[in-house]
Amino acid sequence: MAHLVIAEIVTTMFVISDNPLIVQDAGPGIKSLIGPADRALFLQGIGDVLAELAEGRTFVAMALGLDNFSDLIVARGEATAEIVLREVVLRLRERLSSVHLIVWTSGDLFVLACELADSPRGLEALQVSVISCFDEPFLAANTPVYLSASLGVAFATGARDDPQELLGSAEVARSEARRAGGRRIIVFDRPARSNIADRFEMTQALHRAVEQHELSLDYQPIVHLASMATVGLEALLRWNPRGRGQVRPDTFIPLAEDSGLIVPIGSWVLGEVVEQWSDWVPANRGLAPPWVTVNVSVAQLDVGFAGLADDLLAAQSALPGRLSVEITESRLTIDPEGARATLNWLRRLGVKVILDDFGTGYSSLLSLCSFPVDALKIDRSFVEHLLESDRDQAIVGTIIDLAHTLGILVIAEGVESAAQLECLAGLSCDQAQGFYISPPAPLDEVRAAYETASPLGQRSMGRD
Ligand code: C2E
Ligand code: CA
Ligand code: CA
Repeated sequence: MAHLVIAEIVTTMFVISDNPLIVQDAGPGIKSLIGPADRALFLQGIGDVLAELAEGRTFVAMALGLDNFSDLIVARGEATAEIVLREVVLRLRERLSSVHLIVWTSGDLFVLACELADSPRGLEALQVSVISCFDEPFLAANTPVYLSASLGVAFATGARDDPQELLGSAEVARSEARRAGGRRIIVFDRPARSNIADRFEMTQALHRAVEQHELSLDYQPIVHLASMATVGLEALLRWNPRGRGQVRPDTFIPLAEDSGLIVPIGSWVLGEVVEQWSDWVPANRGLAPPWVTVNVSVAQLDVGFAGLADDLLAAQSALPGRLSVEITESRLTIDPEGARATLNWLRRLGVKVILDDFGTGYSSLLSLCSFPVDALKIDRSFVEHLLESDRDQAIVGTIIDLAHTLGILVIAEGVESAAQLECLAGLSCDQAQGFYISPPAPLDEVRAAYETASPLGQRSMGRD
């Protein structure tokens, strides 16, 4: 019975010639298909199929977007883009035997309703068929056009599904697929939806964080391994939104980077460091305050280059010769020429440059030879397995030797035990930081420890 009804819908959608959902005959008039009416028809179509779904059959809604469609319009014009769209519809229709509905809803977006083959690999087979539609180019005016697609998939569970919600879920998954870089398929699941909602609300709250004084800095000491004296402090951002607990930087920094908020937030960080350092006149022994290092996202360089220059200049005049910035190495390898210019610019300002998370990128040793840097931080993942893994010990030893040959200082991060510290000292590492030496703490605490040189500055290597 369900079979018949589905067949009837397919007929309605694809065969009656003046129905706007005809795909087989899609001609130049296909543009007239764009519009909310199509979506409404699609919803009605899905609703009808769902109502007749027999037990044991699985049905999915898919939202499909073309990743580089706006580039195609810019490069080849709207007329070509329209032809390509029609070709896409025809190919989907031709290659997907289980498709019941294909509707072009707007711009570069299509929605499809398909029945899955009754096999554990039914979804995989369908996904492969859809994506393989884009393996070959589409022809427009005898010129091949290569496209890729992002696909969001949502499972229908039965007659009680709300078609609107089903389609909405597929669309949410599709925008996730595009956000993740395109050319991929994401299957919707409910927790993912609540993650998206959380992320949205968190970004909203982050907009207000600077004005509402919810940001603060902790500092983690960096010690000179031979003397165990504190020589530097890394500024680490903390966010305590009102009405909820602290949010981890690993959670909110990526949001700040995606939304561009990292630019005003990064300015706040530098301003705060300058203020705290200009207040700091060590009370005893003619000590100078330690140098301070600040994390800078590549997004800050991309979006707020001029503003960052001003901030750094201001910071540098308050902290002459004692400011460094940490940039994640893996991001620099994306645009090596631009990166080299940026690093030179920073050094001309008198700011030292540290490559952060060193060893996690593709071409670590190569980038060490080709980028102008003052220091590198060996990523925590190497330090973690230093004692059990001869391989990691060899890698760390090689990094240290090469860096020294090039006149680059080496700092190990994530040191959690005396044994790791000893091992690093044995490999001639220069400096280190980590929970064993001291966790990050508010400046007052770190400062008191620094000025009395205990316990931070004088911790012996033998203690565990
Ligand atoms: P990161 O730059 O690699 O900073 C080191 C992280 O490791 C810090 O996490 C620190 O608390 C943690 N850590 C230090 N010692 C140990 C240890 O012995 N064991 C372990 N397991 N962890 C240790 P945190 O503060 O949560 O910061 C996470 C990341 O957020 C930072 O990684 C950095 O990439 C980013 N971040 C923090 N503050 C800023 C900022 O002001 N601007 C930007 N752009 N990014 C920041
Ligand atoms: Ca860092
Ligand atoms: Ca790091």
